[in-house]
Parts: sequence; structure tokens; C-alpha cells
Amino acid sequence: MKDLKEIISFLKEYDGEEIRIMEICGSHTGAIAKNGIEAMLSEKICLISGPGCPVCVTPSAYIDRLIELSLESDTTVVTFGDLLRVPGSRESLREAQGRGAKVKMVYSPMDIIGIAKDSPDNKFVFAAIGFETTTPVYALLLDTLVKEKIENVKLLTALKTMPEVVDVLCSGGAKINAFIAPGHVCVVTGSRIFEPAAQKYHLPFVVSGFEGEDLLRTIYLLVQNKGEGKVINNYPSVVSYEGNEKAQALVEKYFTKADASWRGIGNVTGSGRLIRPEFSRYDAGSAGLEYDEKKNKACSCDKVIMGLISPEECPLFGKICNPGNPQGACMVSPEGSCNTRFCMG
Ligand code: SF4
Repeated sequence: MKDLKEIISFLKEYDGEEIRIMEICGSHTGAIAKNGIEAMLSEKICLISGPGCPVCVTPSAYIDRLIELSLESDTTVVTFGDLLRVPGSRESLREAQGRGAKVKMVYSPMDIIGIAKDSPDNKFVFAAIGFETTTPVYALLLDTLVKEKIENVKLLTALKTMPEVVDVLCSGGAKINAFIAPGHVCVVTGSRIFEPAAQKYHLPFVVSGFEGEDLLRTIYLLVQNKGEGKVINNYPSVVSYEGNEKAQALVEKYFTKADASWRGIGNVTGSGRLIRPEFSRYDAGSAGLEYDEKKNKACSCDKVIMGLISPEECPLFGKICNPGNPQGACMVSPEGSCNTRFCMG
């Protein structure tokens, strides 16, 4: 491949056919903003954010269900901090805390083990959201619960898988010509996960790391391979073709494929995972949480997530919607496109 200086000059001077590149992963959205990548590209290379921020695509029904559980007399919801401020159909978990919702914040799902052991008479529900990257950690949590016979912990899952939603994006109206494939997901799944979509839609997918140089090389490869239905691994230091087969086996042991509801997109067939029926005693009622009512009807997260508009085109962006007062999920997490655009310009 060319050296970095040549790549930078190629990307700035590119004058070919317009190419629209979607970064699926929220961490890539943040890395692109942090490294000022957009300013280094020709106007003919357009970057679009996709649905790869787990908080952003968690439906309002899921937040409502967490709130219901947290208001039960003996139950505490345990969650990552980001989820606290995500709007449900009426309120967020943080707002519900004002009327007695019991919510505890942790940094790792495994933290719930110690919490549950310390309070054996109370029940705990872990808010298990995420993509292929985090599902193995939830499988490990279930494995520990089973082995240690811990019975006062359940999971409310909203787990998603990427290939099926990529299918929806490719057949939607965003006119995407190429994808920056999520590096963290591919560590677990392997780069092979995107081959069917690449071949079906004749689009290049390049698996990328998160440094500025990684992203510039990835974008260069995508431009060079426009129209080619193939997957290129530009993150070989941690991503293989097969992925982490041990993690995949643990996920298969505890989870089965299922339909999933995505905020802003709706139900996507086969795009999620649920706890297998034989372990249903650890499930806090995860199936069927499908409606996606907005707290603020003017929020355009659905269009932002699908790559149909940029955050600035939402009428609420930077006005009543900001990180201190998020009206939609895309403004909550640092991985959300609206939050990234607001904070990093
Ligand atoms: Fe939703 Fe706020 Fe983004 Fe608008 S700016 S799409 S209201 S999160």
C-alpha cells in the first residue's frame, strides 16, 4: 500500500465519482471526529454514521421495562452509566430514580456477582445491551451464575447482531457505497461475518482499527475497491478471518438467535440474541419488547441511525437537545452520532 503521506494527498485530492462510506461502529464515529478525519477528505468522500452505538439503538420499551423492574420492592437494576439517561417512552432511568427506582451503576457486568452475593435476599437485574463484542461477557456472566448457583440475578437482554441490520441498511435509502466494518465486533466474529453482505450488494467492507492512520488507510482501501464485493481486513493485529471461536462457543451455549427491535429502525428479523430456554430462569422478560415510542416526537434519531440525515439536520440539535438534556438516545452516549457531533464539532 502507499505510504501515509501519499494516502493523505490522494484522499484530499480525490475527484472521482462520489463515494458514501458508512462507519457502522460508534467507536469509529468518535475516532473519526477526534482525529479530524472528515476535514482531511475530498468533498467527494462522504462519511455517514451508522447504527453501531448500542445505547442509541436500544428501544424505549426496554427502558420502560427496566424502570418497571427497578420499582419492584425487592429488585435493583444494575447497569452501565450511559443507559441511565436514555429516554424511555415517558422518562429515563435517572428520572425514575426520583420516584424510587433502584438503580446501581457498574463498570463491568461481572461486578453484579459480588453485589448479589453481598445481598442474597434482594434480586438484581443486569441491563444487558450490546453487540457481538459484549455478548461473550454476558455469556461468561451466565456461566458464572450457573456454576456458582447464584439465583438472585437475572438479565434483561437487548443484544444485537450486525449482519442483519447491515442488510436493512443496504436495502434502505441511504445509498451507501462502502462500509468501515467494526473492528471490535470482528475480533469476536472474525472478518468473515461481513462476506455475505459484501457479495450480495457488491460493496467493499474494510475492517478497521481506531487510530487516525488506521482510518485513513481504511478509507483509502474503500475508495480503491468501490464496487467490489469483498471484505478486507485492515486490522490484522487483532482480527482474524474466523474470530475468537472460544467466545463464539460460549455465546452459542447460552444464547439463541432471535428477532430484535432497534430504536429508529424497528424489528429486524434474526438480528438479536435471547437467553436459551434451558436458562430462562436467568431471563427477566426480554422477549417482545418491541414498541419504539419517542419521548420527544420531533427527535430524528431514526433518520440519523439509518444514515438518512446528519445530526445537524435534526430541528432539535443543539437547541433543546444537548448532552445535558438529551431528547433522543443518539445524544446520550459518547458513541452516539449526535453526541459526537455536538461535543467534537
Ligand atoms: Fe434525537 Fe437529539 Fe439527535 Fe435530534 S439531536 S436526532 S433529538 S438525539
